[in-house]
Amino acid sequence: MSNHAFLSASSSRRWLACPPSAKLCELFNDSSSTYAQEGTDCHALCAYLVEKELGINTRDPTENLTYYSMEMQDCAEEYRNYILERYEEVKKLCKDPKVYVEQRLDFSKWVKDGFGTGDCIIVADNLLQIIDYKHGVGILVEAEHNTQLMCYGLGALESFGSLYDINEIQMTIFQPRRSNISSFSMTKDELLSWAEDTLKPTAKLAYEGHGDYSAGDHCRFCKAKGVCRERANYNLELAKYDFKQPPTLDELEIASLLSQIDELTSWANDVKDYAIKKAMEGTHFEGFKLVEGKSNRKYVNEENVADVVSRAGFDPYEKKVLGITAMTKLLGKKKFEELLGSLVYKPQGKPTLVPESDKREEMNAMNDFKKEKIL
Ligand code: SF4
Repeated sequence: MSNHAFLSASSSRRWLACPPSAKLCELFNDSSSTYAQEGTDCHALCAYLVEKELGINTRDPTENLTYYSMEMQDCAEEYRNYILERYEEVKKLCKDPKVYVEQRLDFSKWVKDGFGTGDCIIVADNLLQIIDYKHGVGILVEAEHNTQLMCYGLGALESFGSLYDINEIQMTIFQPRRSNISSFSMTKDELLSWAEDTLKPTAKLAYEGHGDYSAGDHCRFCKAKGVCRERANYNLELAKYDFKQPPTLDELEIASLLSQIDELTSWANDVKDYAIKKAMEGTHFEGFKLVEGKSNRKYVNEENVADVVSRAGFDPYEKKVLGITAMTKLLGKKKFEELLGSLVYKPQGKPTLVPESDKREEMNAMNDFKKEKIL
């Protein structure tokens, strides 16, 4: 059985927004990253810790994990503790709740051949909980209307809906490296209506390769992102801002550009990455050539360097306190807090303009800058 669904839950945000992207992505190879492998390792550890705690006969995967670290261990333990807390809570309301780990969830009733793997499902009377572990730090993942979790919710309803009287589906993202626990609830009726009215018809379009291409921030998860014409048109349209008159931009025009600049930059980088990859494979782009970028001198062998310098009567080493990430890895999160909690501070971050929907508190620009000057 294939591990990969053509219309997977994890890519659902993309194919729901741009249905023909599913077929287009099939033309590109999968490229697995270090980050993805690190995430897979941590998922294996999370599953093991939860199963062990639940008394399930399971094998410790640690020795086979390429990216195992103390930080990974801490994250997986936090996740296990969170699952156990949720389980204990639900036990107060239901006599026989069940926890399922790495559960295959089939939502093919709405999405042809659709299935996925839920990290943790807690089933009880009235409440179905879907908990998804995210190891990444780059993107903060929210549970609200998260279509991956909603697909899992449907799969879990299919499996357990006849055994328990479920009315509420609670979906949670557990992302410890961003200190993010994000939950979102829907009633069973709301979820099923979405499945019938939105998911099912859009999945049909996607499966058949129909529907309209539509660019947006979901493009960053698309394998075609570097060469997609729709995305190029969308971004070139943004770049073609009407600068005719007057000669300088006003605040409204700048605000409009600001809202588009991140997408524009990310598209430009994707096109560049794609072109470099193709050029390395031999493709010639008219007017361009491949050259070596700048590089810095490096030692051929550090041990030999240290040896030669020591013999010449000098100390080749510098002593530095480990950085916070390395120190956290060395001590583990708990010990780090215990020993160094009061010796760590967070300097003020560089001012950044973000959309008003961003959850961070607004800076009082004038006052904050004045304060900085006085200091
Ligand atoms: S890059 Fe964006 S617009 Fe193009 S196929 Fe992918 S998701 Fe659709």
